[in-house]
Amino acid sequence: MKSSLKEKYTRLIKKEARALGFDFCGISKAEKLAGEEPWLAGWLAQGYHGKMAYLTNHFDKRLDPSELVPGARSIVSLLYNYYPGDEENDNAPFKIARYALGRDYHFVIKDKLKAFMQFLNENIGEIHGRIFVDSAPVMERQWAARSGLGWIGKNTLLLNRQMGSYFFIAELIIDLELEYDGPVGDYCGTCSKCLDACPTDAFVDAGVLDASKCISYFTIELKNAIPEEFRGKYERWIFGCDICQEVCPWNRFAKRHREPDFEMSDAIEKLQKEGLHEITEEIFNKIFKDSPLKRTKYKGIRRNIDFLKSASGDS
Ligand code: SF4
Ligand code: SF4
Repeated sequence: MKSSLKEKYTRLIKKEARALGFDFCGISKAEKLAGEEPWLAGWLAQGYHGKMAYLTNHFDKRLDPSELVPGARSIVSLLYNYYPGDEENDNAPFKIARYALGRDYHFVIKDKLKAFMQFLNENIGEIHGRIFVDSAPVMERQWAARSGLGWIGKNTLLLNRQMGSYFFIAELIIDLELEYDGPVGDYCGTCSKCLDACPTDAFVDAGVLDASKCISYFTIELKNAIPEEFRGKYERWIFGCDICQEVCPWNRFAKRHREPDFEMSDAIEKLQKEGLHEITEEIFNKIFKDSPLKRTKYKGIRRNIDFLKSASGDS
């Protein structure tokens, strides 16, 4: 393709990303993430994924975008801000990760990605591709970092100098050749606040997370009982944990999101204050049907609250 056309399409795509509300858009060449292969293999071999067996599936697909989209040429990485402010959890007896206070981001962002693909087909031509938001074996942080949207910090999250780390990452993998961005530097420097602040010592090393020790894993992914050794260790989190983001100096640049769907729902506010209180499983399923909390189900939230209460001596 002529380079003037590539430039034109690249500009068009970045403009449309902004129009759809994405905060940042960067583009990488779709190629095998060869450098990440030994790292991923080693991480899985150590068992740091805990009981998240799905992470061991589709090893090749995780590393090679053409396994997901035949003929893939470009990865368009997108960031979407969800930062609600800091006050939401401050005095709540039960804390919920900031990303989960409003409507499930899968719904919100998928709608935008579908509109994006439609725009490409209408304005550029027939383009084949797939959309992703935390929904398939895609190494989202690695692609976003390659696309210059930030660097992977010691807390293993993507950090962006303008907005910190409270954002969702999404991608289009498409068979259209574009102009590619390059990575930015690593701006963690000598800081180690996230490593020091983690209450369960989940970081094995800078940038290496033993996910099987992370509060997010315990409160969301783990189906069984939370191991006794962690009792009393994790503050008041009942769904996810933001500690290694709260302490990160780059998050002082986070600005409040503008997405109405991410406003805290009344049901979440009540849950933060009262726990499940008189909520039955039936009511839970109804009021949290569009919330990220449905992932852990009533049983999971009940277990998480009981675990906290038993640690603090409440019954
Ligand atoms: S989310 Fe919480 S528990 Fe998990 S690594 Fe970060 S600080 Fe530690
Ligand atoms: S807290 Fe410090 S070391 Fe950790 S991710 Fe942020 S800047 Fe990097």
